[in-house]
Amino acid sequence: MLIRCEDLWKIYRLGDVEVQALRGLHLSIQQGEFVAIMGASGSGKSSLMNILGCLDQPTKGRYWLNNVNVAALRSDALAEIRNKQIGFVFQNFNLIPRTSALENTQLPLFYRGIPLREQRVMAMEALRRVGLQGRERHYPTQLSGGQQQRVAIARALVTGPSLLLADEPTGNLDTESSREIMIILDELNKAHGMTIVLVTHETDIATYANREIIIKDGRVLLDRNTRADLQQLSSEV
Ligand code: ADP
Ligand code: MG
Repeated sequence: MLIRCEDLWKIYRLGDVEVQALRGLHLSIQQGEFVAIMGASGSGKSSLMNILGCLDQPTKGRYWLNNVNVAALRSDALAEIRNKQIGFVFQNFNLIPRTSALENTQLPLFYRGIPLREQRVMAMEALRRVGLQGRERHYPTQLSGGQQQRVAIARALVTGPSLLLADEPTGNLDTESSREIMIILDELNKAHGMTIVLVTHETDIATYANREIIIKDGRVLLDRNTRADLQQLSSEV
């Protein structure tokens, strides 16, 4: 099992006010799955993603990533896991401004101390995989939203992570750009076996995944294998 969460709680304290974002959530995800997480705004999706991505620790509960209980790790050990195993894609792309697509993609390799020449080769290959060959020297402002998100995906996959986390990656994109992003994610999952966990509020985006999880009030409300449902439907016809 790649991901196993048991009785996960996340409680934010703002002065006297306590917000229970996750309330005893259980979840397991296998290597190679493509999971869509859905749920109303405020249901705890981003809180969950931040914990899955080792950007944040749960208030209570256990989280095993590749059989390591990361909920017990210190922040430096957590950062190392994050850097080695996880790629992130966010709604707002989070590219560094006035920095080329190539340099944005190289950044995680720089942090790993990989030699510059190798960084270039790996980043060029990652940009090619997302269909941005020829645009390596463009700055974020010279790229469309969809292209910027593709740079963000290249940056996320350049280190070869086992897990790709995407929090509303198409939330700021038009229909056609969203479709292009989903085709890239689908390809990464199918051809490269990358495990993908994606948050979306759009049902047509969720259909690209093999499994749909609906979160409500910090717990799993529904968890279904969408491809199995399709198979079941077709065998009934
Ligand atoms: P979603 O991504 O599903 O919209 P979030 O995980 O962002 O849900 O938020 C769940 C709840 O936790 C919401 O009530 C939100 O206001 C609250 N929350 C999220 N992040 C913080 C934070 N850093 N500090 C305080 N409250 C937060
Ligand atoms: Mg959110």
